[in-house]
Amino acid sequence: VYARHSMNFQLILEEIVATLRPQLGQEGAVANYIPALARVSTNQFGIALRTVDGHEAAAGDAFTPFSIQSISKLFALSIGMRLMGEELWDRIGREPSGNPFNSLVQLENEQGVPRNPFINAGAIAVTDRLVSHCEGKIEMLAQLSSVCNEAVHYNPEVAASEAATGYRNVALANFMKSFGKIDNDVATVLDVYFHHCAIEMNCLQLARAAGYLCRDGAHPYLADRQVVTERQARRINSLMLTCGTYDAAGEFAFLIGLPCKSGVGGGIVAVVPDKLTLCVWSPALDSTGNSLLGRKALELFVARTGLSVF
Ligand code: GLU
Repeated sequence: VYARHSMNFQLILEEIVATLRPQLGQEGAVANYIPALARVSTNQFGIALRTVDGHEAAAGDAFTPFSIQSISKLFALSIGMRLMGEELWDRIGREPSGNPFNSLVQLENEQGVPRNPFINAGAIAVTDRLVSHCEGKIEMLAQLSSVCNEAVHYNPEVAASEAATGYRNVALANFMKSFGKIDNDVATVLDVYFHHCAIEMNCLQLARAAGYLCRDGAHPYLADRQVVTERQARRINSLMLTCGTYDAAGEFAFLIGLPCKSGVGGGIVAVVPDKLTLCVWSPALDSTGNSLLGRKALELFVARTGLSVF
C-alpha cells in the first residue's frame, strides 16, 4: 500500500549512479575559494537514503566524507529552534532572498535582520544566538554525532581556511553588529560558524542525521526523543523548500518538489516528509552553487519514485 514497501531503493540508487556516472567531470566546477575544496576531484558521486522505519540504501561514493559547508545551517537552525523556540525569530526572517547567499544589500534595507536562516547572514545570526545559549561548537558535534549515531568531526584545515578568507562573512557579522543585532563578540561567533562549515560527513551519515525531518522531529535512533517538535520540523522543511538551495530554490521546487539544503562542498540533503531523507553528493557545482549532478540525481529520484510533497 505504501510506496516504500513496493520500491527497491537500493536498485533505484544504483540505477541513478549508473545513469549519471558517465557525466562525471564534464560540467560544472568545484568551489575554489579555499584550497581544501579546490582540490576535491569532480569524479565523485554518492547517494544514500534512510526511511522512517530505518531501512537504508547507499550507492556510489556514499561513504566518502566531504565538507558539509552550508548544510550545517540546517543543523544550526534546528539546534537554535530547540533551545530558543519562537524567540529565535526575533532577529531572523523567513523570506527567500533572491540575492546571492552572502549579499550585504538586503541587510542594510532590513536593519541588520537577515531574510532567512540559510543565507550566510542568517546562519551567522543563528550562530550568535547559539553562542549565547550553549557551547556552539560542542553542541553541534554532539547533536550530529547523536542523530547519525557515530562520532562526527571538523576538518581543521578547512576551518582555518574559512577563517583566513572569510572577509565577507566578517563584513556581514560586523554589519549586523552595527545594527545591534549580534550580541556576542564577532570573532567568537565567526569561529563557531566557520567550524560548522568545516564539518565532514558522508552521504549515509547525512541521510541519517537529517532523519528527524522526515519523522515529525523524532530522533532517528532514540525512541521517545524529539530533536525538534513536530511543528518545528514542518517549519524547517518549509524553509528548506523556499530558501535551501541559494538562488535556485524556485527551480528546485519546480523540478524536484522536495525540501532541500545544499552546500558548496557539493552535498544536498532532501526530505520526503513521513517517508525518507536522502543525501546526494557530487562536488562539481552549477552557476547557482548547487551540485550539478546532485540536482540531476534528485530529479531522477523523484521521477522514478513519484515521491513529492505535492
Ligand atoms: N563556508 C561558506 C561561507 O561561509 C559557506 C559556503 C556554502 O554556502 O556552502 O562562505
